[in-house]
Amino acid sequence: MPRVQLQNARLPCPNRLIRPLIRRLQPYVPGEQPKVEGLIKLNTNENPYPPAPSVLRAIRSAADARLRLYPNPTADGLRYKLAKLYGCAPENIIVGNGSDELLEMAVRCFVEPSPCASARTPAGAARCMVQYLTPSYSLYPVLADMHGAIKNAVPLNPDFSLPSPQQLRRGSRWRFDAALTFITTPNAPSGRGYRTAELESLCRAQRGLVVLDEAYAEFADENALALALKYPHVIVSRTFSKAYSLCFLRVGYFIGHPELIAALHKIRDSYNVNGLGQLAAETTLDHLDYYSANFGKIRATRQWLTEQLTQLGFHVVPSQTNFIFVRPPDRTAHQRGGPNKAARTSGSAEDWYYALRERKILVRWFDQPQVRDYLRITIGTPSQARRLVQVVREILRC
Ligand SMILES: *Cc1c(COP(=O)(O)O)cnc(C)c1O
Repeated sequence: MPRVQLQNARLPCPNRLIRPLIRRLQPYVPGEQPKVEGLIKLNTNENPYPPAPSVLRAIRSAADARLRLYPNPTADGLRYKLAKLYGCAPENIIVGNGSDELLEMAVRCFVEPSPCASARTPAGAARCMVQYLTPSYSLYPVLADMHGAIKNAVPLNPDFSLPSPQQLRRGSRWRFDAALTFITTPNAPSGRGYRTAELESLCRAQRGLVVLDEAYAEFADENALALALKYPHVIVSRTFSKAYSLCFLRVGYFIGHPELIAALHKIRDSYNVNGLGQLAAETTLDHLDYYSANFGKIRATRQWLTEQLTQLGFHVVPSQTNFIFVRPPDRTAHQRGGPNKAARTSGSAEDWYYALRERKILVRWFDQPQVRDYLRITIGTPSQARRLVQVVREILRC
C-alpha cells in the first residue's frame, strides 16, 4: 500500500462512522458454498434437481440486449400467475429478492424500533417486538437486531413440536400482543411439520402480525396458505429457492391482506426483483408437474434415509421438508468390546460433522443450545443418500 501522507489525526476514523447498533451486530451466518471437487453438498437445503428444461431455455433466450432495460418493478406477470394459482388477487401478493428480503421488510414495516415512544410499558415493548420460536430460522434475530427491535425468543417443545396457545399462556414468556411473530412452518432446522389447525389456533390468539414462513411447504403434507387469505393479520411467505431449484435467482413472495401488502410495496426497492428471476419463476409455474415429480423423489429419498439412519442408531426427527435433523447414536450405543472402543465408534454431532466433512460430505451443524446434538442433512439424490449411508457405516465401522 502507498504510504498515506494525509494528516490522519484530522480525518474521521471509519469505525466511528458506523452506528453503534451495527458495530455490535452479529450478522447472519449462511451455510458454506465451498468449491471442492467431488463434494456432496448437503448443507444449505438446495434442491438436488435442476430447474425444468424450459425454465433454463427461457433464461437463456432472455439473456440478450434486453438486459439493459429495467425489469417490471412490481413483478406483475408473476403476481398475476401466482394469484391465479392460489385463487386470490394480485393485490394479495408482493414478490421479493428472495423471501429473505421480504422478511426484512416485514420487520421495517410492522415493528417500531426500540426504544419506541413507550417501550417502558409492556404494551409499548410489544410494539417494538419481533417474536419467534427457537430453534427456527436463525435470520429472525439478526433482522430484529438490525432494526433495533426487541427480540422475544420462546422455545419450542423439547421434541420441536409447537406449543399450544394454552401452553404458551402458562409459560408466560410468549406475547400475544407482539408486533410481529415469525413461525417457520414446516420448522427449520428440525424439519417438523405443524398442522394447519394448530397454526390457526395460534394465529387466532395473536393480536399482532403473524408471518408463517413456509420456505419448505412444498415438501409437506399440509400448508397454511388458506390462513393468509382468511385472517387480516396473517402473511404466508414462500420462495422459489428450495422447492423450485432457483436459489441462484432470488425470488420469494408474501401472500396476505391487500392493506398489509400495499404497505410493504411502499418500502420496496423500485426494482427489487431481477428480470431473469421474474421470468424463471413465471416459467416455473407453467411446469408444475415437473416439480411435483421432484418433490415425490425427494420425499421418497427422505423416507429411505430416515429408515437407514434410524437402523444405524440415529434419532431422526420426522421431517416434512427437504432435509432431516438427526441426533447421532449415543456414544455408548455402539459399544463393541467394552467402553474404551465406544469413543472411537461414534462421537458428538460436532465430531460427526467433521468426520463426514473429511469424507467429502458437507452437512450443517449449529453450535447453539437446543440443537448442538443434531446434524441437519439436506435430502440429495438417491445416489448421494446411498453414499451418505455408506460413509456413516464406515465411521461406525459396522
Ligand atoms: C431458505 C429459507 C428462507 C429464504 O429463502 P430465500 O427465498 O432464498 O431468501 C426463508 N426462510 C427459511 C426458513 C428458509 O430456510
